[in-house]
Amino acid sequence: MEITWLGTAGFIIKSNQREFAFDPFLSRGNGKKSPFSKDSFANTEAIYVGHGHFDHTFDIPEIMAHSEAHVFAPGLTGLFLKARGVRSSKMLLADSKEYLNKELKMRAFHSSHVRFDWPLVSSTVRRCGVSGCLHTLKLGVGYPKGLVQTYMFEDRGKKILFISSAGCTQKELKMYRELEIDFLLAPLQGHSRIQELVAEHIRIIQPKVVIPHHHDDFYPPLSQEISVDEFRDQLKRVQFSGDLIEIGLFESAQI
Ligand SMILES: [Zn+2]
Repeated sequence: MEITWLGTAGFIIKSNQREFAFDPFLSRGNGKKSPFSKDSFANTEAIYVGHGHFDHTFDIPEIMAHSEAHVFAPGLTGLFLKARGVRSSKMLLADSKEYLNKELKMRAFHSSHVRFDWPLVSSTVRRCGVSGCLHTLKLGVGYPKGLVQTYMFEDRGKKILFISSAGCTQKELKMYRELEIDFLLAPLQGHSRIQELVAEHIRIIQPKVVIPHHHDDFYPPLSQEISVDEFRDQLKRVQFSGDLIEIGLFESAQI
């Protein structure tokens, strides 16, 4: 399986001769320019959307204007994407009751968004200033998060879990542990102690391999780079015995 990190929570995955994507975000504002474009999705069969925030959905209408892919999204996010021009015939509800793709054994699970804590909010406000805060507010109103989903699929008997935001409840974490996850795509963003928080999730889920994402400076000054080294230290602290694979920004890995 080839996995390409697009930055933020975005991935293109090639698995079982199929190609699909999670949460592609290419615009990146003042952030490092993406080498990917709408043309990068010519062979993508499906886009799975974790939640409605701008850094997960902003570019999907543009990508879909040139693509025959289907988009799987939770209800409100699907409505917003349709309102922004994605054809109704291409939009599908990411329902948690059945496989979204039988061959990939793709399933969706209801999840939650990480709660932005006060130290994170105050440091973000300091970086953004008044005009930046107004811009952020507009993005917040224009791109509501709606329901949050995680997705799990299988590749040659391995289970891969994609989490779009680190807000999993204890009940959900325990359910993932019972599913015996092989590869966990774990988002490092949205809290001043995000590495500690996600390491705690990993202590419970116990995947064999963790692949961090969303830790890039994807939309400065709203965003900041998050240290993966600090995440490694936190994984040691919780005595995680699996592996961490760090995929460089815009790079691919074979797993
Ligand atoms: Zn979000």
